[in-house]
Amino acid sequence: MVSLWPSIEPLLDGVAKPARYIGGEQGATVPLHGDDQVAWLLIYPDTYEIGLPNQGLQILYELLNERPDALAERTYAPWIDMESAMRAAGVPLFSVENHLAAGDFDVMAFNLSAELVYTNVLNLIDLAGVPVRGADRTSSHPVVLAGGHCTFNPEPLADFVDAFVLGDGEEVVGEINDVLAGWLATEPELRERAALLEGLASVEGVYVPSLYRVDFEGQVLTGISPKTPAAPAQVVKRTISDLAEWPYPKNQLVPLTEVVHDRLNVEVFRGCTRGCRFCQAGMITRPVRERPAAQVRSMIRAGLERTGYDEVALTSLSTADFSSIEDTVRAVVGGECGDQQVSVSLPSLRVDAFTVATATQIAHARRTGLTFAPEGGTWRMRRVINKLITEEDLYSAVDAAFSNGWRRVKLYFLIGLPTERDEDVLGIAELARRCVEIGRRHHRGPTIVASVGGFVPKPQTPFQWFGQDTAAELRRKVNLLKDACRPVRGLSLRWHDPEATVVEGLASRGDRRMGAVIERVWRAGGTFQEWSECFDLSKWEAALEAEGLSLESVTYRDREPDEVLAWDHLSAGLHRDFLWSDWQDALAAVAVEDCRWTPCYDCGACTDAGIEHVVASNVPPAGGSQGTGQDLAVGDRVPVRFVTAAGVR
Ligand code: SF4
Repeated sequence: MVSLWPSIEPLLDGVAKPARYIGGEQGATVPLHGDDQVAWLLIYPDTYEIGLPNQGLQILYELLNERPDALAERTYAPWIDMESAMRAAGVPLFSVENHLAAGDFDVMAFNLSAELVYTNVLNLIDLAGVPVRGADRTSSHPVVLAGGHCTFNPEPLADFVDAFVLGDGEEVVGEINDVLAGWLATEPELRERAALLEGLASVEGVYVPSLYRVDFEGQVLTGISPKTPAAPAQVVKRTISDLAEWPYPKNQLVPLTEVVHDRLNVEVFRGCTRGCRFCQAGMITRPVRERPAAQVRSMIRAGLERTGYDEVALTSLSTADFSSIEDTVRAVVGGECGDQQVSVSLPSLRVDAFTVATATQIAHARRTGLTFAPEGGTWRMRRVINKLITEEDLYSAVDAAFSNGWRRVKLYFLIGLPTERDEDVLGIAELARRCVEIGRRHHRGPTIVASVGGFVPKPQTPFQWFGQDTAAELRRKVNLLKDACRPVRGLSLRWHDPEATVVEGLASRGDRRMGAVIERVWRAGGTFQEWSECFDLSKWEAALEAEGLSLESVTYRDREPDEVLAWDHLSAGLHRDFLWSDWQDALAAVAVEDCRWTPCYDCGACTDAGIEHVVASNVPPAGGSQGTGQDLAVGDRVPVRFVTAAGVR
């Protein structure tokens, strides 16, 4: 393997942000390559600034580099200017550590966190000089893997990725490495790619799409089944049972240039049981597994000392639910985790006064903004989506925020939700208007920013059967909101591009036929589709038409109750019965409580995996549950169905 640096360096003068391509971060490992190690290239298919902080990628990077039989380097998607320069100069995709050609690695492993990066995945495989379609690769090419949340419906990328990994990566990455090491130990002329793929399929949690037959009757998907006994009929996600055994990353990367989330990040728990029906992350990462508070503190202490950061984020899907949150915040703010003044950020807040009190305690230095996510504009809508925040919860949280010195509060909402009526959409404007009024009681010029995203139904959630709103309908709803918000001084409305929302839906729930569409968009130059300046709906529409597909058939249509879904052969641990029953509850606006504090609904995440929630304190957190307010008291069990192995009664 030869460093490409002499060819890369002359290109850097002519491109924006050359620091994206040079590596050299504190915490990086520059591995020595040897014949007895499996060489992994970990790839985030977006720019360096977006990809570098990704915790999943950094965890695998460290775990692989700790193994004597493996090594790992990283790369990110070169921005358009750099890609043009590379292609013109004949420079392939390269790693940022040793600047080695991507095609010389044994593995190219992608992190898939968002669907709109799919065309970038194809582009990066191509830029590496590797055939884009798996069927065209030989034993001399790297094996292409992918992990991350999008793998819970990987069918749109099935033609391009050799194997997908479902669930937590900490344990499975070693098992995959063992398979690869065994295969690489055979003489090169005796290596058969088919044998490698079968070996990978034997690892629990690994899905090898080329080993499965996909059947259609006309335009209707009728089944996905193994072609060989080497492939399981259903691939079940991997779940680590004890986060305490995995205190990673130990050496978080400190970039040389500006990136998002540029601070120390410490994961306090994984999984979520709030039961928000729109939230794929909450569904597919169950059960809850908390990190012991003492370990959180020691990771913060060691991380701050090593990196020099003065800010730490306690990460999870709902950090205020961490059972030791108050003690942890007190320890950090009180100087127990370092001798300098440290700010703490909680990226995901509950909507209640307790949360604001905590935020106030930690944000003594930086009171720039506070964000709450009621998601729905009316209580009915929030019951449908199971985001049980009452108006009183929101108003008292906003009042607490403004009275504690905050001047700007951001509210996140979704539009295009199931059963949504115009009154629910207009309810967003009304909630925001009342929050501005509350702010005026405390300050002259308070600002409320209402940020509105279009809802995309995701696989492995109760809303997976829902026909997404059309782009025109989403635009109409945005216009309703614009008209309602315009007269309110101090209220600023932001919205996400409805066309991009619709294409995200296309890639989220598409089946294997979507691969040809993605390939057409990529060949038409459609990369960086998650960037508004690059997104181009016309490319997607043309590709759909050329493949005989339509937005109507993939995104806008409700799924039938007994319809085969493109991800039915992949399991996030959730029973289909549970998801269907929860979908029916949603349609009837029936809410369910957090199963940490109520009896189990037998969704399957714990019961089938033999794992329980790992919560330090088995009582509801201070401040009560998530604003169940007028209808539910803390600890009350709401009327829900009881799910048994035999079905629902
Ligand atoms: S199995 Fe029960 S306790 Fe576990 S996440 Fe599902 S509903 Fe909650």
